[in-house]
Parts: sequence; C-alpha cells; structure tokens
Amino acid sequence: MGDNIVNFFAGQPPLNRLSFQRHSSETLNKHLSDPKAQFVLYREFKPLVKKGEAGKILFLSLDDVKDKIGPQYTSSPEGMTDRIQLKLYESARLPYALPALVFLGIDDRADPTTNASSAVDHSNPSGIPYFALDAAEPEWDEIIEKRGGEWGDARASATALTGWEAGIFAQGRALVDWNVRNKFCPACGSRTYSLWGGWKRNCTSALEPVKEGKEACFSTKGLHNFAYPRTDPVIIMGILDSTGEKMLLGRQKSWPKGMYSCLAGFIEPGESFEDAVRREVLEEAGIEVGPVRYSSSQPWPYPANLMVGCFGRANDGQTIRLDLDNELEDAQWFSRSLISSLVSSSTSSAYTREDHKKLENQSQSDQQTSAALAPSEKKEGEVVVTNVEKGITRVPPETAIAGQLVRLWARGGVELVSKL
Ligand SMILES: [Zn+2]
Repeated sequence: MGDNIVNFFAGQPPLNRLSFQRHSSETLNKHLSDPKAQFVLYREFKPLVKKGEAGKILFLSLDDVKDKIGPQYTSSPEGMTDRIQLKLYESARLPYALPALVFLGIDDRADPTTNASSAVDHSNPSGIPYFALDAAEPEWDEIIEKRGGEWGDARASATALTGWEAGIFAQGRALVDWNVRNKFCPACGSRTYSLWGGWKRNCTSALEPVKEGKEACFSTKGLHNFAYPRTDPVIIMGILDSTGEKMLLGRQKSWPKGMYSCLAGFIEPGESFEDAVRREVLEEAGIEVGPVRYSSSQPWPYPANLMVGCFGRANDGQTIRLDLDNELEDAQWFSRSLISSLVSSSTSSAYTREDHKKLENQSQSDQQTSAALAPSEKKEGEVVVTNVEKGITRVPPETAIAGQLVRLWARGGVELVSKL
C-alpha cells in the first residue's frame, strides 16, 4: 500500500495526453493548426523561459513557430492501401531531418485556476493543445529575442516552476530528449524518423523496398522496444532501523557540502522493486534489509527516469561498510530528532544555482545523481576520500522524492516501521 503522495513533476498537469489520437495525422494536424495551440521549446534540453524569470515557461504561439516547424504531420502517399505500409505513415514527420515536434496533449480543465477537471467528451475533448519542440537551430534566436525569452537552466528552472508547468516541462523534456538522441536505428544503423506525433521512431529502411539479397531491418519485425520512448526505473529508499528512530543516508564526494540523501540505484533487468532495494543497500552500505514497502513514485526528466520511493527495515546488529562498491563517500544512521530539526530549518534544503550546477555536472556522467539527488555509480578511477567532513547540514528539497521520504519519516513517521 502506497502513501498517496503527489510528487513534483507528477499528478499536477491534467493534460489529457490522448494517446489514442497519436495515430491520426488528421486529428494531430487539427490540434497543430489550432490558433490556441501552445509550444514549449527546448535547446540542449533547457526550457525556454521568460527572460529574468527562471520559473516561468515562455510558451510560443502557432504564429511564432509556424514558419519554422516544417510541414504538418505526414499522411500516407496517395493510393496506398496496404495496412502495414499505412502504419509507417501514422502522424509521421518526414523527411527525417525535421526538428522533433511532440504532441503532449490537451488542457481540458474547465477551470485552470482550481485544476478542476471538466465533464469532457472523452473521445474528443476540447481545450488548448500543447506541443514540445526542439529549437536547436539558430534560426529560432530572432523570435525568442522578440518574445522576451531565454534558455533556462534545466534543473534550477524546473524546481522554480509551478507544479502544473513542471509537469509539462518534464513530459516535453523527456520526449524531446528521446527523439534527439535516437536518430539512428539500433538494429541496422539507418536513420530513424518520428511518427505518432513524436511518440514512436521507425527505421527509414522500412519506407523503401528491401534490396535484393538483403534482409529487412530486424527492428521492423516482431515485438521490441527499440522504437518507443523509454522510462528507466530507479529505486530510492528510506531505510529505517528496527525502532524507526534512525534513517540510513549517504553522500557522494561531488555533492554540495553537508548534503546527505536516501540511497538509490537503477532497477536491473530481472529484479522486483524489493530485490533492487535490498541489493543496492547491501552493495552501497553493507546493510541487509528485511521488509520493504512501496511509498510513492515520481517521474524525473533527467532524462527519463521513474523514481520508485520505498521504505525498508534494516536487520539488527549490522555495521555500515562502504568498501563493497565504493560508491559513497559516507553513509550514516541519522536520528529522527536531528533530521526533523534540519527539515524545519529554512536553509537546510535551499540549493543555490551553484549547487544545482554541481549536481548538473555530476549528472552528465551519472544519471542517479541527476535523478535522485542521491548516491550513484562511482566513476572509473575515482579516488575515495576517507577523511571527510561528516556533518549533515542539508537534506534534499521537497521537489525530489528523496526529500519527501525524509520528511514523511521526520514528521512523526515512526509508525512507518510498523507498517513494514
Ligand atoms: Zn533499422
């Protein structure tokens, strides 16, 4: 049983994604040419924000973007009737070199000020369509300047957004990132092209007849996940001692001084949430964990993780050791009274732009830091510093699920251990 927590980036945006409309070029083009349509732009995965206002996305209009996005979503060539062939042209972006343009969905709220959902016709809801767009090319600079925009910092801007805009940012960033990074077919190396309004990519070899003596690309046959946006699950856990009064937190050398967070790690193929929690805590801190339970989850767009928050109870009588995988600089049991006082102090989770930069730099080689503000894979050749400042002065912010796990426990959650 989970804790029904709505985490930052999740739950807030009642964008109706209308995934069943992605197949229809006609419907997506209707949304694309809607004068109300809003476009959120990205360059190197940074969002376009209002100049001087890191926490406000600058949405562009159809008028702003229409000359630069190229043709609308493609329909099949005239006269094509073969069902398999027709599928290759479902809301496609052709030629393949067009910038990524992703249909995010429709804001069908009756009253955006209260987030109230409207009584909609679920087959054809009305509202404002939203699209995400890759604006990597300098040709965008003029309109961005004219509209008073600038490229925000991917992390600092995101944490300053309102919950609703944060959800749109996260969805758009993950999808633009995936499209930009997957321009070549993993099966045969040919170019790929976008279809389904930016939610699928296909091998361009499928658009041409197979050459004599050659095999059709492997990606065009059978079931596979080559061509769909990926979500990488990461478990992140608040590990308690048997009294529930202590939590195990760790830190990496590269993190801002005094910052400790929950342990975390990627779920590997063939593991359940519970298996991954037990393996990671053993590998990173030498602690065996007994019961584990799910708490809540959070989409984390750096680039496309799903954070799975859990609580677990450590077996009694163990000593922390960091030498198994040497990922952490330090790990300690912290008392609930100490963490409670940090949580209620206004500076304990304040992160400066400089701190965000540190985490951003680290995240380029390390998705876990990026995803969780939490422990991660040690880089090859990294020296482990043993004589370290062991004082905890900061816990993760509430916008990260690690911050939620820590707060849930600190604010009177001793009974958490009895639920395990
Ligand atoms: Zn291929």
